[in-house]
Amino acid sequence: MIKGTTKILGVVGYPIVHSLSPVMHNAAIEHLGADYVYVPFSVEPENLAAALRGFEAIDVQGFSVTIPHKQAIIPLLTEITAEARLSGAVNAVSRTGNGWKGTNYDSFGFVAPLKEMKEDWNGIAPVILGNGGAARSVLVGCRSLGCREVHVFGRNPRKLTEFADSWKNTPVHDVLRVHAWNELVELISGTRLIVNATPMGMYPRGDQLPVTEDVIGHIQPGTVVYDLIYVPRPTLFLNKARERGAVIVDGLEMLVQQGAKALEIWLGRDVPVDVMRDACLEQSKPAGSRSGT
Ligand code: NAP
Repeated sequence: MIKGTTKILGVVGYPIVHSLSPVMHNAAIEHLGADYVYVPFSVEPENLAAALRGFEAIDVQGFSVTIPHKQAIIPLLTEITAEARLSGAVNAVSRTGNGWKGTNYDSFGFVAPLKEMKEDWNGIAPVILGNGGAARSVLVGCRSLGCREVHVFGRNPRKLTEFADSWKNTPVHDVLRVHAWNELVELISGTRLIVNATPMGMYPRGDQLPVTEDVIGHIQPGTVVYDLIYVPRPTLFLNKARERGAVIVDGLEMLVQQGAKALEIWLGRDVPVDVMRDACLEQSKPAGSRSGT
């Protein structure tokens, strides 16, 4: 129940209507009986600074950050953590005594389901499709797993060069190898982990694939194929990879794990990850099959 004492959390993005974060966080808040509410804030890029001033005025305690603000928000914050600095993006912000502190839990969320598999990721050489914001967190995550080399594929040579340059003087630089899209076939059969960090196949374009059928035909049985997309789940890419004998992972657990970590920091207590996962699973079902709908 929202009362006069209720503290505000939220998510800032544009558009924000499809975000699962409000359902996920409010389920945990309700389960804990915490005096908080988590609100979606639809903020256009040119209004981000004004939104932050407003958050300060109405005493927002913390908020998640999603597309397209993850990088743009950095200069507006008082401090950022080493994780956020390394990945060059912020996905969670907390109120401090003198302003806002940004961090990034996407890498944490990304590696969580891989660690559960109890495979030894040390020494493997993953393939990452795409070189946008999420690919940065995946790269940091792969390095934290001990991967020997990480192969990032991009379709735009200028952006790929900028991506590679941005890691100079960081510990990630030594493991990073960047490639043009047409080099994929050569590497795909030799890797044990493939990550789709492009939006290809995401709702409402569920018929799209990030790579050609020819490339999919080179995926070896037993390879872990991980798609960061969580609507639909699984994606067409994951379905096709499973037909090749791959072990598939979708993006829902990454979303849940990064969200749980942020909520734990904001509330200063353990949070019910299972409740958050169940809320997301329920919400991401097709509308007609949701309980109560
Ligand atoms: P982004 O910053 O826009 O980056 C997208 C990347 O995909 C860019 O490198 C882009 O290349 C590439 N790309 C787009 N269309 C492509 C195509 N047709 N062929 C080849 N490459 C293409 O987006 P993002 O924030 O990284 O998000 C990427 C995906 O990850 C989204 O689906 C998002 O929902 C998902 N995600 C999931 C989670 C989670 O918790 N599960 C967290 C973050 C992101 P160009 O730069 O050349 O356009």
